[in-house]
Amino acid sequence: MNRRKFLGTLSGVSVAAPAWLEAQAGPPVNDPVEKDVPAKTPTIALNHLGFRPRVGRKALVVRVTGNESPHEFSLRDVVPPFHFTRPLTLEQGDLGPCVTADFTDLDRPGIYQIHAGSERSVPFFIREDVWRRTLPKAVGYYRYQRCGVDVPGVHPICHLDDARRRDNDEHVNVIGGWHDAGDLRKWMDPTMLNAIALLNLVRNIPDPQPGDPTHEQILDEVRHGNRYFLKMQDADGRVWHDAAGGVNGDNSDNHWTDNITGTADDRYINVTKLERIAAMFAALQALVSQSYSPSDPAYADLCLRAGVRAWDGSKRKGSTLDIAWWTLAACELYRATHQDRYRQEAFAMGRALMARQATTYMAGQKQIRGYWTEDPRASEGVVAGEPAPAPYFNVVYPAMPALALLELAELFPEAQDHSKWRDAARLHLDEYAIPMAERNAYRIIPSGLYLGQPTPETYRPLAGELTYRYFMPVRKQFWWQGINSHLGNYALLAARFAVAERKQPGSGRQYVELAYRQLEWIMGANPFGATLMTGEGMRNPYPHSRFVGLIPGGIMNGIAGNAQDEPVLDEAYAIDWRTNEYWSPHVAYYIWAVSTLERVR
Ligand SMILES: [Zn+2]
Repeated sequence: MNRRKFLGTLSGVSVAAPAWLEAQAGPPVNDPVEKDVPAKTPTIALNHLGFRPRVGRKALVVRVTGNESPHEFSLRDVVPPFHFTRPLTLEQGDLGPCVTADFTDLDRPGIYQIHAGSERSVPFFIREDVWRRTLPKAVGYYRYQRCGVDVPGVHPICHLDDARRRDNDEHVNVIGGWHDAGDLRKWMDPTMLNAIALLNLVRNIPDPQPGDPTHEQILDEVRHGNRYFLKMQDADGRVWHDAAGGVNGDNSDNHWTDNITGTADDRYINVTKLERIAAMFAALQALVSQSYSPSDPAYADLCLRAGVRAWDGSKRKGSTLDIAWWTLAACELYRATHQDRYRQEAFAMGRALMARQATTYMAGQKQIRGYWTEDPRASEGVVAGEPAPAPYFNVVYPAMPALALLELAELFPEAQDHSKWRDAARLHLDEYAIPMAERNAYRIIPSGLYLGQPTPETYRPLAGELTYRYFMPVRKQFWWQGINSHLGNYALLAARFAVAERKQPGSGRQYVELAYRQLEWIMGANPFGATLMTGEGMRNPYPHSRFVGLIPGGIMNGIAGNAQDEPVLDEAYAIDWRTNEYWSPHVAYYIWAVSTLERVR
């Protein structure tokens, strides 16, 4: 079928194509030009944005694909004559052999290109704002995801009939919020993370420069999201799980509606109330109240009262992740109110989190410690006759326990446990995250630590009973996907720790490097040479974005793994949600981590 005939099959396009289409009509699909496949995967894995002159490490990774590999690389300014040539060193790592080099000493601002073997890299900058200049795009992503309003150029007004309760069919107005991903559903947990990240950007960049997202823009965006979050709080203070998430785990609510309440296409509210959702809600509302109190004290007060109701209405107990979020809620409520009850409970939660950390070597090995578990006795070490506790795993919130302790340390510098909180986060980074990242040339932190082989697929042996995978298991359950949220959450933790450490000159550099290496993977320093944010870098895969298509600043789930834990990415327009779907947490962590790293000078 040639292009003209193809156009004719589309509804609304006449077979007699207009003259301007005729003029542009290309060759038929069997022409060799249209059979060209995308260029072969590059071997140069370098982030496509570039580097800040004096912050972080400038690392080059080149994959070794055959018997021959380049021994040196040359770097040149795109504008001659500046150039140099340096050796590459072979590095055997988990994700395949690579040759690598370091050019951290190059601080000269410019736009450069690297040559290695027969390849040229994507041009990249060395300039101070190389990451910061991506923030407006990332922040702008949320406007495309707004629900309940007309978003010009994206979609007309939508979902004015959201939604009816699953349990009793009663209609409740939950209009607003953001579509969460490459679909139209409104999960509370990941979309509240959007608002939390945006308000942390305001904290991290208190004096925006021309080109930065403005505080006015961010406060307007957060208020839009929060319009929905506030409506999702039940009379008992606790918070519902989602609107339009689908019934019984299916995708049935993932559609546009007629905007008329009471018709068959109305979507559902999942009225399940989880501790973590209430904790995130309380943290968010306390943060909102601080952020809006100068400009809108009435709104700030309303939100704070909602946050306090979520706090009071909950048990504030649960899993390691629940406790981490309750710790963050206690910190934000203390910041907002200065009430001692939040401080006391924050301290108690800090102790509960530290108790769940494997501070000694467990599972029959002496290489790795400092990871988290679900066992409140983990810090006591191995209990005779009992199996070692399984490591904590969460692909969205892997670094949250350590991050919560860092938050405590920042907020309460005079507390008795202050150095213990900081040391727990340091142990996690120094004796878990960094040594694990050093097992591959890209320096990404594997997504999970395990005991043995829980499912029939590859788990990489570490030591003793401990094993690990870079990517989520694919034989465990239907839900597995790319790990950009995991990388972003760790980038945030390492960035926060670097900021805390920078008070001592020269210290903390390894944490800045660790943070940027996680983000660089998202921005092209990966085995596919693909940037996973739409509108930045090159070789963006087409996203799984079923309703609005490309969204500038959207970050997709990212590279996942197969059963052998080898990286996979859909580059063939298969619209694979596992690797290519946009999702809130990736963008949220990107904004939060990049803005935190702007505090490092
Ligand atoms: Zn909508």
